[in-house]
Amino acid sequence: LIQLYMPLNFMGMVYREIKQGLIDMETMFALLHEPAEIADHPGAKPLRVENGVVKFENVSFAYEPGRPILKDVSFEVPAGKMVAIVGASGAGKSTISRLLFRFYELTQGKITIDGQNIKDVTQASLRAAIGMVPQDTVLFNDTIEYNIRYGRPDATPAEVREAARLAQIHDFVISLPQGYDSLVGERGLKLSGGEKQRVAIARTILKSPPILMLDEATSALDSHTEQEIQDALERVARERTSLVIAHRLSTVVHADNIIVLDEGAIVEQGTHAELLDKGGLYASLWARQREADEARERLAHALEED
Ligand code: ATP
Repeated sequence: LIQLYMPLNFMGMVYREIKQGLIDMETMFALLHEPAEIADHPGAKPLRVENGVVKFENVSFAYEPGRPILKDVSFEVPAGKMVAIVGASGAGKSTISRLLFRFYELTQGKITIDGQNIKDVTQASLRAAIGMVPQDTVLFNDTIEYNIRYGRPDATPAEVREAARLAQIHDFVISLPQGYDSLVGERGLKLSGGEKQRVAIARTILKSPPILMLDEATSALDSHTEQEIQDALERVARERTSLVIAHRLSTVVHADNIIVLDEGAIVEQGTHAELLDKGGLYASLWARQREADEARERLAHALEED
């Protein structure tokens, strides 16, 4: 998927630039000859994860020159703890997850895992160490069983079912006429966003990575599904170093540390209670979300009464 994503992303960028008349054909061909994926450094070694401490040190980043997206960002995710990143749309939250996965090179600073700069390790070992639950999971055109087992191809059918159970998707799967043999993806059964995300969580449970990176779905889920996903995520995150990109603040209440981003810079950090006490940006984001949630509940209530 990553191998597919990068060239597509890259082609999209080239296409936009051509459309905007920003680059001429010659530049385009020069760009196309660049390797689309960031290559391993000569002599790159495999990452060795012992405790799984993730550290961003003075990280700055821009997708395009002259438009900084992250500005001097420093934070640590201690071993086995959960750190959440919050902030308004466009603040740079998902960019942090892309950088940890090394989709792009930093403009400045470094990211380390157990003291090893991710720039100096092989990408295969880096990506094997991080379990990524993306916002929008793309499933393979294959069975549900295959899609879950992808997390660890040598898993037994019993292990696949156990992972599905922990991810709260097992009961749904066995209610389907074909059960685990049901075809999903573009040509199969269309799963909802919440179901797809639970398949991705089951896959990650099987992979059992030392570091977990969750990019929460932006789309509003009904509160029952949201709670189920929440429980599933908490189970995977337990005892693992976890970085959560949170779009809905309800996720982060129990995080060990919450980092508040504003226009690419960290403006506050602390626990939920500490940040509410502070009465700063987090407190106002929280108040705004509460209002939006209450308005949604009132609307749902009114519709039920109609
Ligand atoms: P949201 O909550 O809406 O998902 P976010 O905080 O996760 O937002 P990012 O996706 O990190 O935000 O994006 C930060 C900024 O970087 C945005 O202004 C976005 O337009 C820009 N950006 C994201 N991806 C690219 C890209 N591939 N090329 C150029 N700019 C990009």
